[in-house]
Amino acid sequence: MADTAPSAKLTFEGAQKLLAAAIAKAKEINQPQCICIVDSGGFLLTMGRMDGAYGMSVETALRKAQTAASAIQRLRDMNIEPSILATSINCIVGQRLVRRVCHECCRPAEPSEELLESLLIASIRSESQFVEARGCPACGDTGYAGRTPIFEVMTMTDELSELVDAPTRVIEQMAISQGMSTLRESGIALAAAGITTLDEVRRVVGGKRRATRGFAVAS
Ligand SMILES: [Zn+2]
Repeated sequence: MADTAPSAKLTFEGAQKLLAAAIAKAKEINQPQCICIVDSGGFLLTMGRMDGAYGMSVETALRKAQTAASAIQRLRDMNIEPSILATSINCIVGQRLVRRVCHECCRPAEPSEELLESLLIASIRSESQFVEARGCPACGDTGYAGRTPIFEVMTMTDELSELVDAPTRVIEQMAISQGMSTLRESGIALAAAGITTLDEVRRVVGGKRRATRGFAVAS
């Protein structure tokens, strides 16, 4: 499908539009050529040009994946040929939710060295507005009120397509070298803006290692 061509600037919002367009096109021709599933774990996978053996139906099996890059391994585990993956995946989006800090009671705070180290933060920008959660009647003494998403968008480039049968670590390193922001980085950016806390980011994505609770891969 011409309109599902990967874009280096594809964002989560862009992926959602891509998803809607692909589904509309599939309905229009009554012959799904694209598999796009969003599941409750917040994982979105778009697969276009599935006009081969896999293309005539939408499957809803769920698999757990820790990261966007590891989603490819999960698809390989489902015996999908690497050649099919290389030509059909447009992008993989991971989403997690972090709690928004309560602005009735939060206060500015310098992150501890231990916290910075655990989140692999080498330095913080001077304009950062880190806060810490406290608790008040407005937030039920939790220190937080509401939630907001953090994203990891891995757009499949030519280089990544050539790595679909490579170890997950290699795929992820290539994606990062090409500009992919990880869930951790997305969360840190929100914390630096005073929207959530670094403690909350660490709780959600884990410290010094990738998230262990995994988000689901749909295929
Ligand atoms: Zn509060």
